[in-house]
Amino acid sequence: MQQRILVVEDEAGIAENIRYALQTEGYDVTWCSTVGEARETVAADGIALVILDVGLPDGNGFDFCRDLRNSSRLPVIFLTARTSEIDRVVGLEIGADDYVVKPFSPRELCARVRAVLRRTNGTDTTPAGSPGFAVDPERMRITYHDSLLDLSRYEYRLLEVLVGRPGQVFTRDQLMNQVWEEPEASLDRTVDTHIKTLRAKLRRITPDHDPIKTHRGVGYSLREDQ
Ligand code: CA
Repeated sequence: MQQRILVVEDEAGIAENIRYALQTEGYDVTWCSTVGEARETVAADGIALVILDVGLPDGNGFDFCRDLRNSSRLPVIFLTARTSEIDRVVGLEIGADDYVVKPFSPRELCARVRAVLRRTNGTDTTPAGSPGFAVDPERMRITYHDSLLDLSRYEYRLLEVLVGRPGQVFTRDQLMNQVWEEPEASLDRTVDTHIKTLRAKLRRITPDHDPIKTHRGVGYSLREDQ
C-alpha cells in the first residue's frame, strides 16, 4: 500500500517539487497550504508523515506540531528557512522527527522521509538474505560478522543500498543516484573508488571472502551466498 505524505507548504513551487519527488519514489502526496487545512487533513487520518513548513499564512508550523504532539506520534519533518528556526526545531521540545533547511534538494528530503518512516515504522531490520550484515540506520552504522565497520558517509550509504537488496545488480548510475547528493557533479569512478575502500574494510574481517560482486561493464551486487 502506498504511504500518504502530507505536505504543508504555502509556496506552490516548493510544494510541487516535493510532490513530484515523493511521487517518483512511490508515495501518495496530499498538499495543504495552511495550518487550518492541515489540521483537518490530519484529523481525517490515513497520513503516514507530515512535511511541515514553519511560516504559514494562518499560523506557524511550531504551534501546529506542538498541538499535534498532544494527540499523536505522527512523524513530522520540518522545512526550515533560517538559523533561528533550526535552533527552535533542535533546541525546543517541539517533537519533530527531523528537519531540512531551505533550499534543499528533493532527493535529500526523500531520503529523510524514507529514514524517518523506517525508524518510526520499526521496520529498520536488515532483510533476510544478507547474512553477516546488520544495518542500524539511525546511527548510520553497519556491522559485519559482529564487527562494527568504520565507514565514511558515502561508504555507509553505498553498503546500505547493496545490503538492502542482496543479489540485485546495481549499475554505477543507480548507485550514484541513490547514494550521492549531487550525482551530476560526481564521476563514475567515484563509485568504483568507494567500492574499493569498502572492500578493503570488509577484507579485514573476512580475508578470504569478498561479499561484493563485480559485474563487468555493469555494476555491483551483494552476494546472496555469504
Ligand atoms: Ca512559508
